[in-house]
Amino acid sequence: MSFTNLGLSEPLLKAIKEQGYDTPTPIQQKAIPVVIEGKDVLAAAQTGTGKTAGFTLPLLEKLSRTQPNMQKKQIRALVLTPTRELAAQVAESIKTYGKHLPYTSTVIFGGVGINPQLAAIRKGVDIVIATPGRLLDIAGQKGIDFSALECLILDEADRMLDMGFIHDIKKLMKLMPQKRQTLLFSATFSPEIKTLAEGLLNDPVLVEV
Ligand code: AMP
Repeated sequence: MSFTNLGLSEPLLKAIKEQGYDTPTPIQQKAIPVVIEGKDVLAAAQTGTGKTAGFTLPLLEKLSRTQPNMQKKQIRALVLTPTRELAAQVAESIKTYGKHLPYTSTVIFGGVGINPQLAAIRKGVDIVIATPGRLLDIAGQKGIDFSALECLILDEADRMLDMGFIHDIKKLMKLMPQKRQTLLFSATFSPEIKTLAEGLLNDPVLVEV
């Protein structure tokens, strides 16, 4: 199995090569084709399995396959993470894998000034990586337009629930279009995760490694 069989196009294959990756990890082999196909995904994956590339690569591929007719950049994808460290890490991966593509991204998390984050959103961005609390603050204060959102990804969803983000996530969900692709990554499948998944995902493909 190589990356060339997974449906990724040249700008992504080039970035993967530059990273020195030879072979997709099991989660990447399973997740990348189904995400490109447009399916919702419920994935059980621990840190260290290559899960970040497992969702960022097909996300970038999907964004590159359609060019929405927009006057100004609007948010096409949102990744929610439990912590600012993880948000920063995901943002870094998106920058690395997307370096030969034209997409812009911004990171939103608490504990730092809100104004640069508001400015970045106002300017227009394709991909937002955020922790739920700060994103909801911004949405409440200034409003965020999620009408062009195509893909929502919840990374480490079990940790987000453990940290008490469920209410913030539910409030954010009300601002998003019903018609979208949703991916949920979690290290464990607790009853709470299953309930969250039932509410958010539409006929998901189960990916386990
Ligand atoms: P993650 O599980 O997403 O936190 O990734 C763990 C580490 O594996 C990161 O440092 C990645 O750069 C690296 N990685 C991801 N996919 C591959 C791959 N296919 N081959 C080699 N290393 C990889």
